[in-house]
Amino acid sequence: LLQLAMPLNFLGFVYREIRQALIDMHTMFELLHKDLEIKDEPGAKDLTVSGAKIEFKDCQFGYDERRPILKGVSFTVPAGKKLAIVGASGAGKSTISRLLFRFYDLDAGEVLIDGQNIAKVKQGSLRQAIGIVPQDTVLFNDTILYNIAYGRPDATREEVEAAAKLAKIHDFVLSLPDGYDSVVGERGLKLSGGEKQRVAIARTVLKNPSIMLFDEATSALDSRTEQEIQASLNDVSKDRTTLVIAHRLSTVVDADEIIVLEQGRIEERGTHRELLEKEGHYAEMWRRQLEVAQKVAEVEKAAGQD
Ligand code: ADP
Ligand code: MG
Repeated sequence: LLQLAMPLNFLGFVYREIRQALIDMHTMFELLHKDLEIKDEPGAKDLTVSGAKIEFKDCQFGYDERRPILKGVSFTVPAGKKLAIVGASGAGKSTISRLLFRFYDLDAGEVLIDGQNIAKVKQGSLRQAIGIVPQDTVLFNDTILYNIAYGRPDATREEVEAAAKLAKIHDFVLSLPDGYDSVVGERGLKLSGGEKQRVAIARTVLKNPSIMLFDEATSALDSRTEQEIQASLNDVSKDRTTLVIAHRLSTVVDADEIIVLEQGRIEERGTHRELLEKEGHYAEMWRRQLEVAQKVAEVEKAAGQD
């Protein structure tokens, strides 16, 4: 019986390994799936980036043709400037970032980078120009080194460490028993939300893109971690054209332009100051957020005094 049990045990092990590998592959395919639907035009050229000005011109889009999501959205982000997009959940904010990355093609209108229609350039060159720090970072079941270098596999160890320092995760990595060779992800070390975000920031720093795209997390991080991450992001996005789907007050305040999206249309636009003076939707949102921020600060202060 023992002789039989051993191979069965072994088979069980192999089975679990294969199943995990299949799950990993499935996730990868899900991530890549959208790429497969979008094709380069024959003879498409590489995107050539100078200052990385972004223009959305009367963009219309729906995931399903029967249900329009963006209903004519136009805005310009001049080279090196920062645009913040705010608005209720479901308004279409993340859709805008997916369209900039060309995960989907528009139903009408166009998106231009330095005057080039992104639907007419090679996707590889488009995506090379854009760095994303997503809301939820997917880490691969591999080392921290691999996870940071993922966007640029040819990076040297020194470059990876420099990126990690900018993202302020270097010291944390060194505190791990295996340092940069520590395995993370589902089967390895579980990183906190803030740590995962920092890995994503380091990954983006290493990629050195002309355009930065942030979809800020709404929640999950305590306000101190949030501020630290915010500071890292500000360092990283300095002098790059930046598009941020913003939830944090600090991000919104210093944006060069803010657009308020509501049900797929731009309802208000302007700087923080201009929008406050308008006393419209944005001013109302701002007031509500301030109240919440003050409550949170009070609670954290009270907790700190215990
Ligand atoms: P926001 O980021 O402002 O919360 P999204 O851009 O993610 O909003 O979504 C806008 C709308 O599009 C929502 O109603 C959402 O349900 C829908 N939507 C988002 N992604 C998909 C998708 N892959 N397929 C179909 N509908 C989607
Ligand atoms: Mg979103």
